[in-house]
Amino acid sequence: MALRAALPDVAFCTGEANSAMPAPTCASCHTARANLRRPRSGQALCGTCFCNAFEAEVLHTVLAGRLLPRGAVVAVGASGGKDSTVLAHVLRALAPQLDISLHLVAVDEGIGGYRDAALAAVRHQAARWELPLTVVAYEDLFGGWTMDAVARSTAGSGRSRSCCTFCGVLRRRALEEGARLVGATHIVTGHNADDMAETVLMNFLRGDAGRLARGGGLGSPGEGGALPRCRPLQLASQKEVVLYAHFRRLHYFSEECVYAPEAFRGHARDLLKRLEAARPSAVLDLVHSAERLALAPTARPPRPGACSRCGALASRALCQACALLDGLNRGLPRLAIGKGRRELEEEAPRGRRSVPAADALTAF
Ligand code: SF4
Repeated sequence: MALRAALPDVAFCTGEANSAMPAPTCASCHTARANLRRPRSGQALCGTCFCNAFEAEVLHTVLAGRLLPRGAVVAVGASGGKDSTVLAHVLRALAPQLDISLHLVAVDEGIGGYRDAALAAVRHQAARWELPLTVVAYEDLFGGWTMDAVARSTAGSGRSRSCCTFCGVLRRRALEEGARLVGATHIVTGHNADDMAETVLMNFLRGDAGRLARGGGLGSPGEGGALPRCRPLQLASQKEVVLYAHFRRLHYFSEECVYAPEAFRGHARDLLKRLEAARPSAVLDLVHSAERLALAPTARPPRPGACSRCGALASRALCQACALLDGLNRGLPRLAIGKGRRELEEEAPRGRRSVPAADALTAF
């Protein structure tokens, strides 16, 4: 069974005669046979009660965190992958209770052979769930640049991991633009607890105090005119997201992006898996540690201002998107990363507006 292969450390209750684990009765409905033990609590539940509990927990996250006010028009960042598929499905179920309306917004990064298939999955979901869908493309938003073109430009630059560095910044901007296009008041993304823990680890490993300081909490309130963003699945483990998709029979796109193997995130993911094997609470502990992190005044990054080129929130003269695009347009993509940005910023005021005003550009 594919699910067992995907989740080798989840205990499934089989009830088979020679099984090491005969299926107990569901601890919630006390009627059906349990199908699984919840990874964190060990509670034995049937598929239906597990999905109901999962939805109730997401509802609690949204209400307790005051993430989505009544009447919100919510742009759901839809990639066709498991997280955004589950997020859209859960929010669709909760929409009447929350009094919100949903609009799927998908970003076409221009990754041949990968994103086309993922977008087909999003279109299928939108049609099946009768949700409006808008697709925005890097090529249209960023002066003809696609991720494949960025990858060709950065090839041989000695920064093999830079594809995801560029993509993360541009995708955040593209999602903001798509959300504005459809009149959304809020943006939600499908990041789960494992994603957040990986991000916290990466920020620690890079010594990026600024992102650590901004990375906690369930979302951002929308500084500098940006739309408020939140992550309703931030406290849900990846395993439970996969289980929910399985028991709700959701179809999603599960192939990995062609540029993903280069990403630093993969190392953080491997490290986190080993940490979790030794300490099962490691994922949530990392998420909560970021929420509670307080930086000493001397370590705090300066208050962000406005990008001198496009007006978006920026902690330096140029926002990350303008800096990255500037480096690409000059044929010097490395200039936009790390210390190279200083050279760009000295010249920033004379550039033209390359992207519309949008948001702060941190990884999440
Ligand atoms: Fe973009 Fe990297 Fe994700 Fe691919 S793996 S979609 S390049 S961020």
